[in-house]
Amino acid sequence: MKKKPQNLISQKWEILLSQAGYRITQPRRAILDIIAESCRPLTPVEIYDLARARSSGIGLVTVYRTIEKLEELHLVDHVHHLGECQTVFRSSDHHQHLLICTNCGTSCYFDGLEVEEQFNQIGQQLGYEVTGHWLQLAGLCEDCQKSHNSKKVPE
Ligand SMILES: [Zn+2]
Ligand SMILES: [Zn+2]
Repeated sequence: MKKKPQNLISQKWEILLSQAGYRITQPRRAILDIIAESCRPLTPVEIYDLARARSSGIGLVTVYRTIEKLEELHLVDHVHHLGECQTVFRSSDHHQHLLICTNCGTSCYFDGLEVEEQFNQIGQQLGYEVTGHWLQLAGLCEDCQKSHNSKKVPE
């Protein structure tokens, strides 16, 4: 089995989940690995398909339960896509924003400190105390821009 840096994430998740009283079984470990390793947000069904290829005895219910547990511990975020079903992606360890490729789904986190300051100002102007925001950017990643330029990708 090849070791990827992301395995550290799923190892950390395993510890946190067991501390929260969740038993880590082989199927659950496969699910954790898949979510932790993914560079793009995945739907529960995608997680299910990928996990089944690694470990037998995985049910879709197990996938949903594991996601639920990860959510409770704020280890994954729900990611919204225009016109698509919801997906989950590993959380960043502090408040950050997600930039998502609309073509292949590859995602990365970014800080948005200047924008955040503006959000507070907008709130003040409108007489609100801003206590939170939800910010996600969509675009084309470097690879997809290249293939986009060589051939038109149907939307
Ligand atoms: Zn923010
Ligand atoms: Zn892309």
